[in-house]
Amino acid sequence: MKITLLGTGTPMPNPDRAGAATLLESGTQRVLVDAGRGVVMRLSAAGVLPVMLNGVIITHLHSDHITDLNDVITTQWIMSSGPTPLRIYGPIGIKRVVDGILSSLEPDISYRLEHHQDSLTWRPTVSVTEVAPGDTFQLDELHVTVGRTDHQPVEPTVGYRIHHDDKSVVFGGDGLPCPELDALCSGSDVYVQTVMRDDLVRQVPNKRFLDILDYHSTVEQAAQTAARGGVKTLVMTHYIPGMQRGQEDEWREIAARHFSGTIVLGDDLTSTTW
Ligand SMILES: [Zn+2]
Ligand SMILES: [Zn+2]
Repeated sequence: MKITLLGTGTPMPNPDRAGAATLLESGTQRVLVDAGRGVVMRLSAAGVLPVMLNGVIITHLHSDHITDLNDVITTQWIMSSGPTPLRIYGPIGIKRVVDGILSSLEPDISYRLEHHQDSLTWRPTVSVTEVAPGDTFQLDELHVTVGRTDHQPVEPTVGYRIHHDDKSVVFGGDGLPCPELDALCSGSDVYVQTVMRDDLVRQVPNKRFLDILDYHSTVEQAAQTAARGGVKTLVMTHYIPGMQRGQEDEWREIAARHFSGTIVLGDDLTSTTW
């Protein structure tokens, strides 16, 4: 299995960090987890096009995790060789979001159908499945388990454990530690988590920024979740505030106080294989 951090940024614009998105590759299987700002550019930099994806899974409906889902849908459609559905999984509400995206794309869809009358005879084909904690599903060769995460007041939010060929990875999304996330992580090889440095956030004198303190795992909390779950590797992403160049060792050292396994973090397109 291999994961590539396609976007390590947050809603705050950062020219070096695309929005939340991670690519999982296992054998011939490829899954995109979340679809934030710039996802298709980063995906192509990782050598993968939307038509090559087995599916897209979404952790929650915060804009920074879905803002470029429209680009994934359109690019998959215009590069497709037939009406093969793009499969999208997400929490309750994802259907409404995708319906809204498709509705916003109506002018574009009509232009392209009109212009490519011989070669593009199908509309964007999207199959959307709403999932809830406790669900399991098979995405081709991948076995996926859905777990609850705690990102309140944002609800519903979910994490995913993906299993293939005796290997597994958990995508915790945004949120605080909780028993359900612990259960999802237990015994997994790799755990990917959004992280926040609360010491740095507290230095920003902005009420709207300080509000985020109560619904993100700190670096320490992510490391503690990794340790409780007995995972081998903790992958940290979605750095709040944006991690500065040269700060990587500082963030890693904070996590290492609570977790003795491998710690991965870095710029967009950082990857780890196991
Ligand atoms: Zn986020
Ligand atoms: Zn969020």
